[in-house]
Amino acid sequence: MPTVEELSRVLAALCTPVPPAGPDMCAVCHAWSPPGRSMCTACACVRAQVSRPCPRVVPVTLCVARSPLNRCLRAYKDDAEPEARWGGAVVVAALLARFLHDHAACLAGDHGPWDFLTTVPSSEGRPGRHPLERAVSLVPWLARRHRRVLAPGTLTLARRVAGDDGFEVVAPVRRRRIVVVDDVLATGARAQSAASALALAGATVVAVVPLARMVAGPGAPSFETAAWAAWSRRQSFRWDTCCAHGTGEAASS
Ligand SMILES: [Zn+2]
Ligand SMILES: [Zn+2]
Repeated sequence: MPTVEELSRVLAALCTPVPPAGPDMCAVCHAWSPPGRSMCTACACVRAQVSRPCPRVVPVTLCVARSPLNRCLRAYKDDAEPEARWGGAVVVAALLARFLHDHAACLAGDHGPWDFLTTVPSSEGRPGRHPLERAVSLVPWLARRHRRVLAPGTLTLARRVAGDDGFEVVAPVRRRRIVVVDDVLATGARAQSAASALALAGATVVAVVPLARMVAGPGAPSFETAAWAAWSRRQSFRWDTCCAHGTGEAASS
């Protein structure tokens, strides 16, 4: 079995860097925002529905539909073949472990070191452990930092339906500093519902970390499609930086 370092070095070829904060970027999730707006349409929509959204979303990579990375992210959850699910889980685990390890201080921002990470549970009726939790368990360093503190709540979440009741907090989180990890962020409805439930229970959600921020999909606005085309042609992914790089306390000290 290759190490996280070896695997992630190869897997960088599947990734596209996430732009840092800037005038045309969503101040929350680092996707492109409509001209003149500080937030993308998805973040604006979701933040209006939850009382304590996390203002810091730090995606590992951008991703477009039908790309090799997107296929991995689908396969690890839903492929009929166990080998494909396993292969996808190894990719997910390696990318997440490398990112969380190398950019722990960037994720913390002004909050200082975080206590643990938690994954967003299934809300679509998938039985048993969420595939992301299984992927996290493949890397001992990652598994030791994971706590299961959320369960599906009473509100049925959807692409543009978020709410404080989307998840229930099932373990003590008061005064804990938590990183919320998810596989794919399209609108943030699930991740921000999870973040809000945790904050209302007394936790500090220092960042939401989606492995992939989906952009430029079918029906995306033309400014986003054009921005993606220009960005993805020019930029190549590197492990030594991220969209929040240098913003953490530990990073600057
Ligand atoms: Zn956004
Ligand atoms: Zn960083």
